[in-house]
Amino acid sequence: MVVVRADMNSEMLPQVRALLQQFSLRPRKRLGQHFLVDGDVLERILSAAEPEPEDIIIEIGPGLGILTRRLAEAVSRVIAVELDSRLVSMLRKELAAWPNVEIVHGDVLKTAPQQLIAGGSGFSGCAPSYKVVANLPYYITSPVLRHFLRASSRPSLMVVMVQKEVGEAIAAVPGKLSILAVGVQFYARPSIVAHVPADGFYPAPKIDSLVLRLDVRHKVAVEVEDEDAFLDMVSCGFKSPRKQLRNSLSRALGIPAVQVAASLEKAGIEARRRAETLSMEEWRAVYWAFGRSRE
Ligand code: SAM
Repeated sequence: MVVVRADMNSEMLPQVRALLQQFSLRPRKRLGQHFLVDGDVLERILSAAEPEPEDIIIEIGPGLGILTRRLAEAVSRVIAVELDSRLVSMLRKELAAWPNVEIVHGDVLKTAPQQLIAGGSGFSGCAPSYKVVANLPYYITSPVLRHFLRASSRPSLMVVMVQKEVGEAIAAVPGKLSILAVGVQFYARPSIVAHVPADGFYPAPKIDSLVLRLDVRHKVAVEVEDEDAFLDMVSCGFKSPRKQLRNSLSRALGIPAVQVAASLEKAGIEARRRAETLSMEEWRAVYWAFGRSRE
């Protein structure tokens, strides 16, 4: 992993400013519009996505379309979902020469990935393999990850720009795990591609970012009969993350702490541990001890 300095490549800033001026656009903060102006980071996103000529890529929030164009050069189909209607009309003009780019106007969270891939065909059955690339608006990071990782057709790979602390939390190891980390690692293997300081964007946000790669697993990390029940169990464990597991589970499940402690010990888990220290296998043991009996 490399720390990328924004001043290493600054030619994107004039390009971004020129596009904004040409189309009389002002960045909308409420839509998280911080445009990437660091060319080295752009290259790192592209190389992390490992684009192949036959690939289908869903890009979330194409913005001014600079990354979109680069993706279109490398793969067979880019489906770019943008919420801002001003950007949608600008993108349709700017990318008109790219027949392999579809600009979809809408909220990415309101359309199932398989529907995006089906496009106008109306067929939304089993979707072909696809990847997701996004410089995400920070306020939709967790919902977007959930939307794609829990979809009936999951992507094979996601390369996403996220807030630095959120990216580090997702890539954490047992001892520093959060509900978000367990929820993501259940479906994917995270790795940090590059740290991106705030001045890698225009306008600069108040926070630093990082590019996160998620290699989506063919099978979830631990075998469970009911994925939703497993994730519900994990969220019960994290309801009071500062408390010992016996107390947080007792509270969340409405079972006396002594009883919870006895079941945890039987499952081979020390009842005084905190949720953040449990590995995926240990969460499965918790699920077996409690989750299944709650049905
Ligand atoms: N990809 C561009 C770049 O890297 O410069 C823009 C990234 S900007 C951080 C986020 C983009 O996501 C904006 O263009 C914004 O309008 C769009 N956006 C915000 N919420 C969205 C949503 N729910 N669905 C689709 N696009 C969204």
